[in-house]
Amino acid sequence: MSNEFLSERVMSIAPSPSVAANALVAQLRAEGRDIVNFTVGEPDLNTPAHIVEAARKAMETGDTHYTNTLGTPALRKAIVTKLARDNGIEYCIDEVVAGTGGKQIIFEALAATLNPTDEVIVHTPYWVSYPDITKLNGGTPVVIHGNEKNGFKLNPEELQKAITPRTKWVILNSPNNPSGAVYDAAELKALAQVLRDHPHILIMADEIYEHFVYGNEPYLSFPAAAPDLKDRTLIINGASKGYAMTGWRLGFGAGPKWLIDAIGKLLSQSTTCPSSISQAAAVAAFAGDQAPVKAMAKLYRTRRDIILVALEGIQGLTYTVPEGAFYLFVNVQGLLGKTTPEGKTLNTDGDVVQYWLEEGGVATVVGQAYGISPYVRLSFASSEEVIQDGCARIRRVCESLR
Ligand code: PLP
Repeated sequence: MSNEFLSERVMSIAPSPSVAANALVAQLRAEGRDIVNFTVGEPDLNTPAHIVEAARKAMETGDTHYTNTLGTPALRKAIVTKLARDNGIEYCIDEVVAGTGGKQIIFEALAATLNPTDEVIVHTPYWVSYPDITKLNGGTPVVIHGNEKNGFKLNPEELQKAITPRTKWVILNSPNNPSGAVYDAAELKALAQVLRDHPHILIMADEIYEHFVYGNEPYLSFPAAAPDLKDRTLIINGASKGYAMTGWRLGFGAGPKWLIDAIGKLLSQSTTCPSSISQAAAVAAFAGDQAPVKAMAKLYRTRRDIILVALEGIQGLTYTVPEGAFYLFVNVQGLLGKTTPEGKTLNTDGDVVQYWLEEGGVATVVGQAYGISPYVRLSFASSEEVIQDGCARIRRVCESLR
């Protein structure tokens, strides 16, 4: 098929690099290669049993039809319950919408609001999809470059400088994929102070990793830190990460009714509604027993500590300890300029990723995909055995560089 049939919009974006990296692992394994997969952006654990049971019951009792476009009343009630219980924020049932993953809600929210010349502020390292979803919807991503020295956190001065009359959205992501940065109350309030002076800006608070925070402070949602900005904020969250439900494709948005209605209008013309079975499962996830979520958070914290120890002392690698999510974002500047046993010089983070994959059989994602180089993202949502194996391979191939 020739590109001449494709739209300018689709030609302006790249396929999701993390999805592509994962697909490459599947391909290499099918060819018989032994690969440790550190590219995965999802829990390796199975969905908790009580959630699976709720889905089974839904199928058996005929809960198998189209639902309300915004989601079933039971699910929206469960989301409202979750937001009050976990985040201390009161929403009405008509201020929440369920989608086929949080990704769909991000997409529809931008589709519902962006006009040509509108700008969306993102901050590196950013989740790979924000700029491309912005472009697909006719907007322009405005990239603020993150700084490792301040833990890759967006600071108020940089935010202020990036704002123009055309800014429509600012996307905040805490805990951050890929850096693991988590914003505390003072940091969120400082960003809110800037945004308070710009009533033309909407705030997207992507909180999909909220359950995985490793510090002593409880997680703070953006509208809980800045309640007066709640009517300009869209929370993005979902079942994928916290409840080990990536394949169920169930996310949600919470925000002002006018925006939720507009997203609903788009959903009615696209997917109609998320799977009724996934919705029934998500009711059990959001409103049911939270013990499995707490157990998973504990496990990821242990794994984070394991990966930090396993990489200790490898020459050329430095990193900021992740405070949340399940990724380690490794600075590989110290490897650049070195030569592989085959005589190839490593010039970019892409070269490092390639070398680790070819020589070590370890798959990772290149920092450039997150808008910043030279970095490599390692997911630690894997068993201790896999983490140890992968890190030992990385150590071996790094030590063979000259
Ligand atoms: N936001 C971030 C930061 C993510 O990492 C992801 C998935 O990787 C999503 C949103 C979307 O998740 P889902 O569509 O599975 O709910």
